[in-house]
Amino acid sequence: MTYFFETYGCQMNYAESASVARLLLDLGWTVAETADVADLVILNTCSVRITAETRVFGRIYHFCAQKRTRKLTLIVMGCMAERLRDELKKKYAKLDYVVGMFERDSFEAIFRDIGEGRKYVKPGKSPTAAADEGSADEMPVNTYYFAPSSHEKGAFQANVPIMNGCDNFCSYCIVPYVRGREVSRDMEEILAEFDTLADQGVREVTLLGQNVNSYRYTEPETGSVVGFPELLTRIARRIEVKNRIRWVRFISSHPKDLSDELIEVIARERVFCRYLHLPVQHGSNRVLEAMNRKYTRESYLALADRIKKRIPDVALSTRTWKRRSTSSVPSATKPHSCTIIIPVRERKPSTCPTAYRKKSRKNGSPG
Ligand code: SF4
Repeated sequence: MTYFFETYGCQMNYAESASVARLLLDLGWTVAETADVADLVILNTCSVRITAETRVFGRIYHFCAQKRTRKLTLIVMGCMAERLRDELKKKYAKLDYVVGMFERDSFEAIFRDIGEGRKYVKPGKSPTAAADEGSADEMPVNTYYFAPSSHEKGAFQANVPIMNGCDNFCSYCIVPYVRGREVSRDMEEILAEFDTLADQGVREVTLLGQNVNSYRYTEPETGSVVGFPELLTRIARRIEVKNRIRWVRFISSHPKDLSDELIEVIARERVFCRYLHLPVQHGSNRVLEAMNRKYTRESYLALADRIKKRIPDVALSTRTWKRRSTSSVPSATKPHSCTIIIPVRERKPSTCPTAYRKKSRKNGSPG
């Protein structure tokens, strides 16, 4: 049987698609040439930008229409599955499964049942109830599932998720509502994945998380807390054993959480690329406060100066918030847009203006 992924949004979504694809391959599925001939289509969705959601609605409609003329299983996963599950179920009766952010550990059972021609039934739920609901969603699992690996076989680069969710609640961002509060991955699992990746010929690794600087893992034996700088140090020592992985990067970093200790580690350990992405979002203190970013224009620039001083060959990039009519930051009006240029000052970094969707508790936007 064949499958096809359509993935939208951030690198975390791509890593999650890759980990689910690995599972399918392990179960004997193969990749279809196109979505239009696949037995199983999985849409991994993003709620950050309204254009991504609009496109997914169109794709769901397209595949539901195909089900009139050919056998096809359609799954929606990711942020839209988490945010709009009831709406999706109501609107698209032919949609087979809506798998929310915290239900990814049910994929193996779902795929086995699809392979055997059965409808997946959530354990403890009667087949009738499941049939009535028509999906495997609503599983009350609150913990995020870190897949053992999201590496695509043969690729020289790999993404390694180290944390998920966010506690920052920036006023324009949907992430805390769809990915939940921060949870950090077991450090030993991360280190073990580095060993596996080195054995598989990987040379470059990107650590992923909504705010990697918030990584906090409590060691079970000692009870001591490992933060992000300590994790990086342990990764550096672990990599030396096999001596194969050459470059390690990480995204995303919240400027308020980038510590001097972390700068020291990056300066000291050459395996970490001299590249830091620090989303500034805006150059006006008033707008930054409305965004709940918890830093100021001055503290951001001071941080950039400290980084440059300690790591002279570093490349800094940033991201700026771009005003749209759907914006949920009303104070970010035209006169303030000029202040966005602050990080560009004399450094000329790359910037990536981003337009965000309208936010509400259930219908929010990201960053
Ligand atoms: S913009 Fe980034 S830091 Fe702010 S809530 Fe969203 S994910 Fe968290």
